[in-house]
Amino acid sequence: MANETAGEKDIKNMHWSEIIAKKIYDEKEPPYVVMAGITPSGPVHPGTLCEFLFAYAISRQLSKYGNVHYVFVSDDMDALDAVPEPLKEYAKTIGEDMGMPLAYARDPKGCHESFAGHFIAETQELMKVFGVELEFVRASKLYAQGRYDKFAREMCERKDEIKEIVRVSSLRETMPDDWFPIMPICKKCMNVDKNAVLEYKDGNYKYKCSKCGSVDWDKIENHRYKLLFRLDWPTRQKFMHVVTEGGSVDHHTKGGTLSTVAAVHREFYNEEPPYYYKFGFLKYKGKKYSKSKGIGHTVNELVELLPVEIIKYILLKPDVQEDKELVIDKETLFPILEDYKRASLVGKVQDVGTDTTKRADRKRAIAFELCNARVVWKADIADMILYYNIYGDWNKVGELVGDMAGVEYLRNYINVWISRSLVPDRYMFRVDMKKSENALVRAYVQKMDEKLSAEDLHNLVFDVAKENGVDAKDVFKQLYLAIIGKEMGPRLGKLIYAIGIEKVKGAIA
Ligand SMILES: [Zn+2]
Ligand SMILES: [Zn+2]
Repeated sequence: MANETAGEKDIKNMHWSEIIAKKIYDEKEPPYVVMAGITPSGPVHPGTLCEFLFAYAISRQLSKYGNVHYVFVSDDMDALDAVPEPLKEYAKTIGEDMGMPLAYARDPKGCHESFAGHFIAETQELMKVFGVELEFVRASKLYAQGRYDKFAREMCERKDEIKEIVRVSSLRETMPDDWFPIMPICKKCMNVDKNAVLEYKDGNYKYKCSKCGSVDWDKIENHRYKLLFRLDWPTRQKFMHVVTEGGSVDHHTKGGTLSTVAAVHREFYNEEPPYYYKFGFLKYKGKKYSKSKGIGHTVNELVELLPVEIIKYILLKPDVQEDKELVIDKETLFPILEDYKRASLVGKVQDVGTDTTKRADRKRAIAFELCNARVVWKADIADMILYYNIYGDWNKVGELVGDMAGVEYLRNYINVWISRSLVPDRYMFRVDMKKSENALVRAYVQKMDEKLSAEDLHNLVFDVAKENGVDAKDVFKQLYLAIIGKEMGPRLGKLIYAIGIEKVKGAIA
């Protein structure tokens, strides 16, 4: 590491959001328009969180360099093309509207003005819960305002040119004969999927609807069309002056969507494309999150299991390009909590040189800062659970651990963890004391003294083991059996101290 240049050292010390912001600062001019987006084709899922949180992190870092505007676009002009898994019971209604833009299809539940409207409301609610502020824009509004018209017309007029750009950038040998830059929306049935343009002249076009078969004329200025996905994306970036946008790994492949998007900027609009960052997949025990296959947590589950700032932390800490494991179970829960707590204690470490431990801590601190974290517990969570198992009263737990705010912050979550068996076995027990005839227990009890501290009570086990020529773990085992009826448990000294020395003494000897 001694030969690192200053630049390399800086990059290695930076959190990914800082690196991306720095690159944008080096290449682009303010105001910095950061864009992200999703298609409102079904219920929110953890991937939705990634979409708006990654761009949020970058916009926060970019604001250190200049004015930032964070815009989130909902692609509600995309065609309804599937019945989402959780909406199977509405399959009939959804089936009837299949092929229509999501902004025009009906809300299957009937509570919003459209299919898109229903899921946009869910997304916006989630953004509020996660404390992310941004300008929310619907693609349908951008079309209705005519923002695309000039560009759509230009693409229709230079059709052969744009077609060749798409062909080359998407690594295709040939393109379909009926390929056209726009997809008309049928005036009669509002279908958009697979509609064909038959003729085009000066902004007027003749189309055939693939759903109802109607053939009619329409014009671009009526805004009843949509650009093909690979043309829509760069065009929107152009008229909204976007400096950066992210895409999952699959958009970044050679010949993938972003190859075309960048080519359209360079070869059709004669400008440099925005800076495209890549993000990895969300994984659950090595498998890609999938709603339809039921792999991974749902968003509702996540917010029940952990405070939102910890969920943000898990998603924002690792490098954005890496695939991320988002698993909350008995093995991962406590390590996640410990890591987060550590981040809360690091503070702002600015220059950390080449010390890798400090580098990791610095990145923790940046991720923590991006979470806008509020209260963090001071006491040990294992102690909170220990006292709760003994007294079953959170106020008493708060008093005993000397951290009312921390207990207040975590108590509802701890209840959920206990009810879902997410707490490691060693922390879970029920006090169930019984007289013991065991010689080791008797030897221990004889040495117990009202004045001992929790630590003394713990160390006493080792004295007893030594005097009796046995392993300390045998003494622990016999004591746990006498106090909680199982072979292992929380730290013994703390356990006895919490129950009360005299009480234990009286009950087991
Ligand atoms: Zn609704
Ligand atoms: Zn039609």
